[in-house]
Amino acid sequence: MMHWKEQGRIVVRLKPPIAMHANDQQRLLADVENFCTEIRDHEELCYVEHRFNEHLLPLAQKHKILGMPIPQEYGGRGADAATYARALVRIGQEGTGVRTFFSGHTSIGQYPILKWGSEELKQRYLPPSCRGEKVLAFGLTEPEAGSNPLEMQMTYEKKDGHYELNGVKYLISNAGIASAIVVFAYPKAGGRVSAFVIDTDAPGCEREDLLAKVGMPTANTGMFELAGFQAPLSNMLGAEGDGFRIAMGTLVSGRLSVAAGCLGVIEDCLIECLRYAKERSQHGKPIGKHQLVQEHIAGIEMARLASDALVAKAAEAKAASDASWDDAELRSRADLLCAQAKLFVTNAAWEAADRAVQVFGGRGWSTLYRPGRHLMDVRVCRIYEGTDEILKLKVAAALLGKEFEAFK
Ligand SMILES: Cc1cc2nc3c(=O)[nH]c(=O)nc-3n(C[C@H](O)[C@H](O)[C@H](O)COP(=O)(O)OP(=O)(O)OC[C@H]3O[C@@H](n4cnc5c(N)ncnc54)[C@H](O)[C@@H]3O)c2cc1C
Repeated sequence: MMHWKEQGRIVVRLKPPIAMHANDQQRLLADVENFCTEIRDHEELCYVEHRFNEHLLPLAQKHKILGMPIPQEYGGRGADAATYARALVRIGQEGTGVRTFFSGHTSIGQYPILKWGSEELKQRYLPPSCRGEKVLAFGLTEPEAGSNPLEMQMTYEKKDGHYELNGVKYLISNAGIASAIVVFAYPKAGGRVSAFVIDTDAPGCEREDLLAKVGMPTANTGMFELAGFQAPLSNMLGAEGDGFRIAMGTLVSGRLSVAAGCLGVIEDCLIECLRYAKERSQHGKPIGKHQLVQEHIAGIEMARLASDALVAKAAEAKAASDASWDDAELRSRADLLCAQAKLFVTNAAWEAADRAVQVFGGRGWSTLYRPGRHLMDVRVCRIYEGTDEILKLKVAAALLGKEFEAFK
């Protein structure tokens, strides 16, 4: 895509990954680039018309980017955390709605199946989801359980040859387009949360799209109710009672994806502002020659630079933890750094989009231009996958020590 090439210096950021072969990495990033070039006009039109972007899935299929970090043996591209983060940064430039699809499908959908699924579950869900025949989602939030997922009310009960699930999941990315969703529930008789993969076309699953959300009109967000829903016994993820650990482990991957996507938003705001500040003239000169406009551009650039460093550091920690999965210290380092990156970069992206809207003046406050769309869309990143407040508490507790944890 043109801006990308014109502003090449902006996009060179993460260190070369250790794990992925350079040729495979280049091919994947080239495919992502082509996907982004082709999605742009569709995304813009769908956004302005306030409707779901039905071109996203076929284009992602065409460019084979529906399982970027999934190992090749399961049909994915085998990207390491740093390469996958780079891909999401680029996708993030095309909008938070586009990137959220990938987070839902891959970072929090395919990821828990890869990490905690039995071989049978991996074979059943990963290759078709990498081909785009199945879209995936992650259903943790409920109407009465958001920041504290342990307040969830969904239950399961082991019956003759299946688990019966009952309850509602709310505000779930991709819910309306997913063939399978990772869900979490308490045993009806009491005990710890377990995780399941459910097929949405099975009887007992009713879905509804949530269309009144602010921003991201081109992305699907939904809710669903499971009533007397029967999941095969083999569809439990991990062991019984592992659900909360699986949910929290998955959010590490999800938070890195949000941080990377928001870095892409900042980059796009910078690209747009640099172009517009040269093209638009007021008071007899390009607005880029007015010092207060330059202040906005410098502010966005500083946000980009700091976010870039944090995303790189978090991705590196995630890659190290993925490579030594049993190392609790590496896992907890990745957990904290991904949370810190998510907290910082989502706020930096919100501020960058706000500055970009200001640089564009009246045109900025319009869905016809990219800064306004970014501003509307990126705000939710400070809410999903851990609100600002919850992540600040996590960061403070990591410094103060366990006895200072605000909640357990
Ligand atoms: C567009 C969108 C997509 C989403 N996608 C998904 C998805 O794919 N899967 C999924 O499972 N969920 C998803 N969510 C849900 C999201 O993760 C939750 O909205 C989020 O975790 C916050 O929960 P809540 O909305 O119930 O807010 P609440 O938990 O009710 O919080 C309300 C406010 O209180 C604050 N608060 C709560 N507890 C504390 C505390 N102890 N200390 C200080 N402040 C506190 C919060 O920070 C927040 O400011 C999505 C949400 C949106 C809007």
